[in-house]
Amino acid sequence: MKNYVIKGNICYSKTREELCITENGYIVCEGGRCAGVYETLPEEYETLPCYNYEDKIIIPGLVDLHVHAPQYAFRGMGMDLELLDWLNTHTFVEEAKYADLEYAEKAYDIFTEDLKNSATTRACIFGTIHTEATLLLMEKLEETGLKAYVGKVNMDRNSPKYLCEENAEKSVKDTEEWLMKSQRFKNIKPVLTPRFTPSCTDELLERLSGLQKKYQLPVQSHLSENLGEIDWVKELCPGTACYGESYDRYDMFGNNCPTVMAHCVHSPEKEIEMMQRQKVFIAHCPESNANLSSGVAPVKKYLEKDMKVGLGTDIAAGSSLSVLKAMVTAVQCSKLRWRLYDQSVLPLTMEEVFFMATKGGGEFFGKVGSFEEGYELDAVVFDDSKIKHPQTLSVKERLKRLIYLADERNITAKFVDGQVIFREN
Ligand SMILES: [Zn+2]
Repeated sequence: MKNYVIKGNICYSKTREELCITENGYIVCEGGRCAGVYETLPEEYETLPCYNYEDKIIIPGLVDLHVHAPQYAFRGMGMDLELLDWLNTHTFVEEAKYADLEYAEKAYDIFTEDLKNSATTRACIFGTIHTEATLLLMEKLEETGLKAYVGKVNMDRNSPKYLCEENAEKSVKDTEEWLMKSQRFKNIKPVLTPRFTPSCTDELLERLSGLQKKYQLPVQSHLSENLGEIDWVKELCPGTACYGESYDRYDMFGNNCPTVMAHCVHSPEKEIEMMQRQKVFIAHCPESNANLSSGVAPVKKYLEKDMKVGLGTDIAAGSSLSVLKAMVTAVQCSKLRWRLYDQSVLPLTMEEVFFMATKGGGEFFGKVGSFEEGYELDAVVFDDSKIKHPQTLSVKERLKRLIYLADERNITAKFVDGQVIFREN
């Protein structure tokens, strides 16, 4: 059923400054798309079935622009290292386990189940280098009804033997086979996923660029995250003026290649200009950047330049799958950044992080992340009645509290692209 009405307290972003709230309002869904938000239901829609959520809070589904599914198994552990040591000590060891499909089955069951029950409706997800395990992840995600991009990771250098592809040719051959096999999915789409420049030879990036052009694929990777990593890229790519150029020289940095780059904590001006001009999406992952001592990205500056910015949980450098928590952490880190070392970039507001978590990141998927007319209807319903309070609160106050508490156990219904994923009533 894709024609219906949802009733409740409706909250969504129009712009990064404008949070719209309609109390006891109606969202009309026609053919899976939003046909408007109304204070009073127009007569023409009165005959449609209505999900009445009464005093509950309804927001657009949240978008996680950067998350590593295989790392979910060790979230919250091994947080005492910086990026490069963390990768070698914890991450690569865990990712190698996905050569074993039995292990992958167990781990991906847990990941997909938790993602399904979270407030996230869309995600850009990294798998591992393993084709079969990545297909298994896609299959499990497909069953949830969520929509996502999933990438088989490419890495053919500077990686431990047990997690390094034989050479560029083999890596791309495997990737093309994976692409063919992933055509069977409807909700889950493939995204090219060179891990990051240090893990990929020039030949590999060049061959991946060929695949990108042949199949018109989007790309996801990492950029300017941690100081040690940035120095290493400088050594590895002597001809480039910035890290971003190491992708751009193979046409995998925006323009005709839809691109998500995670982090951009230390991007120099040249890189920022390129991202702005070429409409590269930035996945801001504040918890990860704190945990790996990477720093704090100047996100307000990116927003003021009207750049494309969304939020990522970056499991397992981030510990929580909750995009609500990423919103709060983004605000908190931006305040510390402003207070401690850069007064030229102001802290983020709640309106801004709400925008980034919905419409900002949602744009990577098309018309996603808002209840404005024509948007694909992704919605999450929260029941905050169990949170006791001694006075009456406005819907906006309740929304802020709900975000700060980041308790996703209070979700009572979830819709993706007009389809019901689950609902209690
Ligand atoms: Zn990452």
